[in-house]
Amino acid sequence: MNTEYTRVEDFYEAETFNRIKELADTKETPFVVIDIATIENAYDTLKELFPYASVYYAVKANPAAEVLSCLRDRGSNFDVASIYELDKLLENGVEASRCSYGNTIKKSRDIRYFYEQGVRMYATDSEADLRNIAKAAPGSRVYVRILTEGSGTADWPLSRKFGCQTDMAMDLLVLARDLGLEPYGVSFHVGSQQRDIGAWDAAIGKVKVIFERLKEEDNITLKMINLGGGFPANYITRANTLDLYAEEITRFIEEDFGDDFPEIILEPGRSLISNSGVLVSEVVLISRKSHTALQRWVFTDVGKFSGLIETLDECIKYPIYVEKQGELEEVVIAGPTCDSADIMYEHYKYGLPLNLAIGDRMYWLSTGAYTTSYSSVEFNGFPPLKSYFV
Ligand SMILES: *Cc1c(COP(=O)(O)O)cnc(C)c1O
Repeated sequence: MNTEYTRVEDFYEAETFNRIKELADTKETPFVVIDIATIENAYDTLKELFPYASVYYAVKANPAAEVLSCLRDRGSNFDVASIYELDKLLENGVEASRCSYGNTIKKSRDIRYFYEQGVRMYATDSEADLRNIAKAAPGSRVYVRILTEGSGTADWPLSRKFGCQTDMAMDLLVLARDLGLEPYGVSFHVGSQQRDIGAWDAAIGKVKVIFERLKEEDNITLKMINLGGGFPANYITRANTLDLYAEEITRFIEEDFGDDFPEIILEPGRSLISNSGVLVSEVVLISRKSHTALQRWVFTDVGKFSGLIETLDECIKYPIYVEKQGELEEVVIAGPTCDSADIMYEHYKYGLPLNLAIGDRMYWLSTGAYTTSYSSVEFNGFPPLKSYFV
């Protein structure tokens, strides 16, 4: 049974948690409370640790207007994946010049829409997409996303579906120039919640080769490296501190690029937002599958389809806090829907107090990112996960 890191103090300042809880006490579950000040602090810390980098917040992590305007006012740029995200940013007063179209999978007419709105930076990883960009967004900056290894050490791997091999990346950057685009740089994503900082070293090494070869062989000077997201949030299984990530990654860039330090873009989602949120749910039912079963099943009013999809394969292990104290017992934790996939934790043994009862609240810590944005619209009639802001 695992009981590490389920204390609120390990994740929030007392004052912050009290602020969240005060609002939570007035609302009906399930919902997420987002503490905007925590996002502001996370943004400022990131800028301190990477003073040379531009931040492009990955909107998909949490697209709430409150989150977007907070980051807009902090000076952030935005990594956008769809016309819908773009519209939302524009509605919230973000200039198109602060947005990049970071999705490599896009329709030609959507590229045109981005271009008409004023977006001039595009990610790509294939010839067909690049040709679409050249037609629909002429003269724009493009960066090519490469494949990276190391998805094994990321809790939520992202790398296989996107990106191309180094050789193809170079061909695409040359083609970009020939099509009248500006070959601007290279991007990668080492996988979300990446535990191995060395994953950036390997990826930056590949980028260096691309920069050098293009310069020598094609007289193309690339300017930018997009280091993606992948920076850690705090969950049960701890990662290194962001300070250490920054220190190491800066050293990797210096070692490979020396005085030619390139323009650097970061695209954080999880690391910026997760710790700002607490998801509050209520215990619907507690049962045993037989009179002698050792394990109890705790069913709660939030599940895989209402915001906790990252518990798939138990990838992300959220710390769970309940107010009752006392002797702990191993439990299976499951959601409220009629789908047997709607079990959050079964193999990783969470311990919850024996006196936990129907109607008690469960506080899922570090749930600001990838919860509300993943929640389904009407599965079994359950409404999407709500959020409130303090
Ligand atoms: C999802 C995504 C990110 C954010 O990744 P995190 O691991 O949440 O920081 C950044 N860039 C791109 C292209 C993404 O798809």
